[in-house]
Formats: sequence, C-alpha cells, structure tokens
Amino acid sequence: MTTYTAPIEDMMFLFEKLRNNKNYNDLEKYKEVTPDLVKNILEEAAKINQNIILPLAKSGDENPTILENGLVRTPPGYKEAYSKFIEDGWTSLSCDPKYGGQGMPKTVSAFFDEMLSAASLSFKLYSELSIGAYNCINHHATDSIKNKFLPKIVEGKWSGTMCLTEPVCGTDLGLLKTKAVEQKDGTFKISGQKIFITSGDHDLTENIVHLVIARASDSPPGTKGISLFLVPKFIVNDDGSIGSKNGVSTGSIESKMGIKGSATCVLNFDNATGYMIGSKNKGLNSMFTMMNLERIVVGIQGLGISEIAYQNSLNYSKERKQGKGNNSKSNNGADFIIEHADIRKSLLNMKSIIEGERALCFWLSQQTEVSLYHKDENIRNEAADLVSLMTPVVKSFFTDMGMEITSSAMQIHGGYGYTKDQGIEQLYRDNRITPIYEGTNSVQAIDLVFRKLSNKNGDIINKYINLIKKDIKVSGEKIKPFVKKMEENIELLEKFSNWIKEKVQNSKDDANAASNDYLNVLGLVAIAHAWLKVLEVSFKDYENNKKFYEDKIQTANFFFKRVLPRVESYYLTATSGSKYIMDFKFN
Ligand SMILES: Cc1cc2nc3c(=O)[nH]c(=O)nc-3n(C[C@H](O)[C@H](O)[C@H](O)COP(=O)(O)OP(=O)(O)OC[C@H]3O[C@@H](n4cnc5c(N)ncnc54)[C@H](O)[C@@H]3O)c2cc1C
Repeated sequence: MTTYTAPIEDMMFLFEKLRNNKNYNDLEKYKEVTPDLVKNILEEAAKINQNIILPLAKSGDENPTILENGLVRTPPGYKEAYSKFIEDGWTSLSCDPKYGGQGMPKTVSAFFDEMLSAASLSFKLYSELSIGAYNCINHHATDSIKNKFLPKIVEGKWSGTMCLTEPVCGTDLGLLKTKAVEQKDGTFKISGQKIFITSGDHDLTENIVHLVIARASDSPPGTKGISLFLVPKFIVNDDGSIGSKNGVSTGSIESKMGIKGSATCVLNFDNATGYMIGSKNKGLNSMFTMMNLERIVVGIQGLGISEIAYQNSLNYSKERKQGKGNNSKSNNGADFIIEHADIRKSLLNMKSIIEGERALCFWLSQQTEVSLYHKDENIRNEAADLVSLMTPVVKSFFTDMGMEITSSAMQIHGGYGYTKDQGIEQLYRDNRITPIYEGTNSVQAIDLVFRKLSNKNGDIINKYINLIKKDIKVSGEKIKPFVKKMEENIELLEKFSNWIKEKVQNSKDDANAASNDYLNVLGLVAIAHAWLKVLEVSFKDYENNKKFYEDKIQTANFFFKRVLPRVESYYLTATSGSKYIMDFKFN
C-alpha cells in the first residue's frame, strides 16, 4: 500500500512567504486567516487524509461501487469515513458562512484539495461535485433555492452532481437531447438520459442535487438553446424536509479502469421535477461557473496524485538495492537505486514539476479570490482574465504531468510498480481519467488557442507576459542565470503566441495541431515564473532556513536546466505546421 505525508512545510512556505500580493492582501474578508490558523487547519487535514482516507484508496479499488436493487453502494468504509469527514466540517471549508461555511480562501482549500486527491481521488469525488454545485447555485439561483439547498450541501448531508454528458454528446454539448417541459407552476418536467455522471447515486448522503442541462420545448437547437435545471433525487418540501422520490433512477454504473470507488452512473430522468437555474437558454453560462472552478480542481487532482507517486518513489529508491552506482564506495553488494544518476534524474523531474505546480496553483488561487472579491471592478476583471487564461493550462498541464509522473513512479518501482502490491499502478490508473473529464485536455488546449488568445483583442496573453516581465526584474548575482533563462523563454512564448494568433486567422489546422504544444509552453513558462518567485525568497531569506532553501534552489536549478528546455522542442514541433498531417491519407 502507498504511504503519504502531507507536504505541510511546503504549503506553509507558500502561504507565509509568497502571499505578498497587494491585490490579494487588500481583501478584507481574509484578514483573519493567519498563518497560525492555516497551519492548524493543514495539520488536521493531514490527519484525516493520512489516517482515515488513504486506507480507503486500496479498499475502494478492490471493492468497487455496486448497483444493488436500484441502489448504489459505496465501498466498505466509505460511509463511516464520510460521516467523520462532514462532522469535522471539511465540505464547508471554502463555503460562505451565510450558509454554514467556514469562509476559507481558495489558497487554503486548494491545499486541502491536493491532500484529498493524494489520499483517495475516488473518495474525494463524492464531495468535490457538491462544492461545484454549491458554487453554481450560489452564483445563479434565486434566494429561495439557495436557502433551501445550500445549507444542507455545505453541511455535507446532501451532495451534488453535474449532469452534462449524454450518449451522443460529450465535448459537443449542443447535441444534447434531454428535454425540459414547462409546467403551470413554473417548474419543469425533465426527461432524458445522462451518462458518466460522477456520484450520480450513492449511499453517503440523504439527498442528491443534480444540476442538469436540458433543452426547453421552445428553445433553439445547438448551444444557444440549453438551460440549466436543479433536479433533486428527493423532492424537498417547503419546510426543508425530504419528500417523495423524484423521477430519477440509476440505469447502471460504469465498470472502469480506475477511480473504482467512485460511482460513475447512467441516470435516467423520467418526467423528473426540475427548477430552472439562471436565465432560460443561458444554461451553459451558468454551468461554466461550475466547470471553470472544477477544472482548476481537476488540475489539483493531478498535482495531488503526482505528490503521492513521488513520495513513494523516493522512499522506494532509498530501500531498493540493485547494481553499483558509478561512484560506489562499497566493495561488495549493491547500492540503493537512489545512487543511480538516471533514478535521481527521474525523482528530481517529479519534484521540480510538483513544487513548481504547487507554487503556480497558489498564485492562481490568489488571483481567483481577487477576481471574485476585490472592491475595484478593474482589478477584479484583470484577475478574472488571468484566471480564465490559466484555467485550461492548470487543468491540462497538471493532469498530463500526473501521467508522466505516475508512469515514472511505476518505472522506478520496476516490476513491483506494475504489479498491485505497492499501489503504484493504481495511481497511474486513477490519474488517467483526469486528462479526459471536465473537457478533454486537447479540447482545453483548443479553447486556449482559439478563444482565450483572441478574447479582448488578444490582449490577455500580452498582459500576462508583461506581468511576468515585471516580476522577473529582480536583482542579485545568484538569481541572474535564472532570470536570463526566463527572458529567453518569454521571448519564445511571445513568438509562439504571435505565430498562433496569425494561424488562428489564416490557417486553422496549423493552429489546431499546435494547440497542445502551445498549452505546454505556457504551462512551462508559468511554472518557471512561479519558481522564480520561490527563488527570490530563497536567496533573500537563505540564512533563516538554509536546509529548506538550499533544497528549493537545487530543485529550481534542475527545473531550469532539465524541464524548461522542453519549450524549444514544443515550439519547433508546432511551427512545422500541419499540411503534412492533413494531407496524409489514412488507409
Ligand atoms: C469516470 C468519468 C467521470 C465523468 N464524470 C462526468 C460528470 O460528472 N458529468 C458529466 O457530465 N460528464 C462526466 N464525464 C464525461 C466526460 O466529461 C466526457 O467523457 C468528456 O468530456 C469527453 O467526452 P466524450 O467521452 O464524449 O468524448 P468525445 O467528445 O467524443 O471526444 C473524443 C475525442 O475527440 C476529441 N475531440 C472532440 N471534439 C474535438 C474538437 N472539436 N477538436 C479536436 N478534438 C476533439 C476529444 O479530445 C477526444 O480525444 C465523466 C467521464 C468519465 C469517464
């Protein structure tokens, strides 16, 4: 079985030393969120994740969810753990105190999301979609719906789902067939089938609040005719008590490669009562509130799984003896595999990506808070632009790196990584869904290139590049080589952005074929930017915590020498164009 120790020291380093963002620090509501408070929260979070949730990962994999007499049963131990999870208030961490939440910023809840993803992604998904539903309802529903549903969701007694996918509609939601017929009392009757619905049914909560997209009878075809509906598993009476069963049933649950403890359901809606959320035909806009925040959290899933894969690989490398290291001093026997340069390189590759991602995610969490709560509208909008630019990057880059890192972890474990004993192959299988759901990674990249780069006359990327240029104007002999590398890579990013913008206008296939490469370049440069902020503190504060900062400096050095140069290769590959791809005749 895998082991896990929550990386609290690194998280606290970010919270204490990288929080000096003026716009974020302007936010009155978080003035009382002090480092001491955050440390306490993280220590408690570590306990539940390490001691109670981590053991569920293996048992959930071996005893997947089942459908029995129309009811979905979660794996052994899930119910007890979930009761403790909500009793301790973990579902309410980032929610509004108005509905019983604890009002913590995303800078803190993102750390919790990372720990929970590392401990067990399957278990996490039962509460994750609830928070997504909470955000969507909170932004778009009427007060009466909010008051009726949010307190129970925040408490964790009711959970949420996101029902988009249908047999004929995955990426292209305009094809959806689910129908909504308006009733005299203003409610709707929803009929149709949704597939692949995470936590679509289970035995952990008293009620399940489905957020369903459907087409009203008089709405136009395509994405312009989609509305959003709240469809509870059980109707909720006016006094808030649970009433009769609604017309929603579970057709089956998917048998799948990983996250076997998570119930992925086929849901049949048969004249189910639904309440419209937001405006008619604007359902996708409302759903995007849920999806955009969710996409960042999916990126964090990749980060959490990468961290546990790294920790176990490091431990294993220190225990497994094979062959002699090139600088071996022992005359007999073999050395620990951590002595081999190739293994060390793999471990540093993982570590430098993971710590850079965590620092980038911390910055993005700050921007998200500023975009939601800053009093100055211009500052809010500028932060929202940065969040919208970086959301597909975090979702895709972190989850793709999760595949690279879990694969390297398996390689480091050799045959014991491929067999089930160590739990490493499960990390690979569990992570494999993250580049697919919440919009596939390729579709994220296409969205970045075709929409986000041209929004606001293509100015968002320029603003981001200027922000990095401003941030890297730091002095000091030791940081100089890093700044120089950064400048070279920013130049490439600028060239690549201009190339892409031109191709989006004049040669769409070139742009389409280059989109993943572009996303990777932006991801690598953004992580290097985050590393530079870490380095600035590490050099300045060096004497106060030499061991910690030396580790940071050496890890950053690896990233700049061995990971960041991938930028050039992505650029060269992408700018070779697409004619030879499009002209190829597949037999
Ligand atoms: C375990 C699991 C949990 C899930 N949970 C949920 C959930 O809770 N709620 C929900 O609604 N859905 C959920 N999904 C569905 C998931 O979001 C979809 O599977 C995903 O969005 C992709 O849709 P699809 O499978 O239909 O693939 P398709 O859309 O058919 O895509 C197939 C391939 O074509 C590519 N492609 C598609 N369009 C384009 C394009 N325009 N340009 C270039 N390439 C393109 C894709 O990148 C992909 O590689 C879940 C799926 C799984 C497996």
